[in-house]
Amino acid sequence: MSTGSPVGSHRVVSPAGALPQAAVRLDPDPEIRDDEVRVSVERLNLDAASFRQLRTKHGGDGAAIRAEVLAIIAARGKMQNPVTGSGGMLIGTVDAVGPRSPLGLESGQKIATLVSLTLTPLLITDGLERWDGESEQVPAAGTAILFGRSIAAPLPDDMPEALALAVFDVCGAPALVRRVVSRRYHSAPTVAVIGAAGKSGSLSLAAAKDAHAAKVVAVVRDQVEAAQMRRLGLADKVAVADATDPLALSHAVTEALRGRGADVTVVCVDVPGCEHGAVLATATGGTVVFFSMATSFPQAALGAEGLAADVEMLIGNGYVPGHADYALHLMNAHPRLKELFNTRIGAHA
Ligand code: NAP
Repeated sequence: MSTGSPVGSHRVVSPAGALPQAAVRLDPDPEIRDDEVRVSVERLNLDAASFRQLRTKHGGDGAAIRAEVLAIIAARGKMQNPVTGSGGMLIGTVDAVGPRSPLGLESGQKIATLVSLTLTPLLITDGLERWDGESEQVPAAGTAILFGRSIAAPLPDDMPEALALAVFDVCGAPALVRRVVSRRYHSAPTVAVIGAAGKSGSLSLAAAKDAHAAKVVAVVRDQVEAAQMRRLGLADKVAVADATDPLALSHAVTEALRGRGADVTVVCVDVPGCEHGAVLATATGGTVVFFSMATSFPQAALGAEGLAADVEMLIGNGYVPGHADYALHLMNAHPRLKELFNTRIGAHA
């Protein structure tokens, strides 16, 4: 056995010189290098934007969605939707640990990978036969490879696996919201979360409250989600708007904040086209956090320029130190958040 690159470049088949995330194809060979870990895969969590794109493309035909996911993994050696560019993450059992792996994992340990599926070498061996193609969570058998610089977290003992998987998938959002809300403001900022009834959205609401935001506005798609938000009790105001309608979105936020934009706007929807509304809904000098993978950099940058909007725009990096523990802490602190997650997992399962 030889030692691989800590960032996994030895697994890149094409194009030469790319890192795994940008690669077109990875080598998912289950044989590991000295510093790699092999995981026996049990369940994938497809990224929400990716799953929505596939579901829309195939008109909800589960068999066609499954066939496309299998084809992508076979062609790319990883699960990276070529349209959205996004992946997801997985849970499984550590199957083999190279003698030089720095990750501190042990064979037999149940873990969630906290690095994206877009850079994780993946081999599926069961044809995804237990998946109906109708939910983001995919029961699966096969192997995945972690590099020296990958991150993984042991699954908590006190939480069902499907719930933990859903929480870990979006755990970067609340940690980033806490950081942004806690910094740089002389007085506590107002926060608007767009797509607040979703997984990353509801956790972001909890983080904004936890970080002592002055006022938290939950923006949701319809009255059903508005009722869920009132029951959740983490928002000071609930507003209903289509996030892809810029004027309606900014109107909803400014109305909830008595004529002002939000100091911090967090975009947690899973559809494209929310950039301009998010910029318009943000106060001068404020910050937009684009957590959504459906965000377009040109739309955001050119939109802000075209609106002469002096706002800082952050890309929601899925990694913030301590993100997994913080998300679990929020889930345990808010039983109704757990209920909302369970409803979402159930509703889509
Ligand atoms: P989710 O649970 O499906 O939540 C998305 C929410 O947005 C849902 O409540 C959805 O409502 C709502 N929504 C969709 N279209 C809308 C519209 N036009 N107007 C208002 N609301 C709308 O998704 P998630 O798992 O939290 O993921 C959210 C986003 O984060 C996705 O784009 C995903 O790719 C991204 N993500 C990013 C990272 C990262 O590292 N940056 C990691 C994970 C996920 P309905 O349910 O009614 O459709």
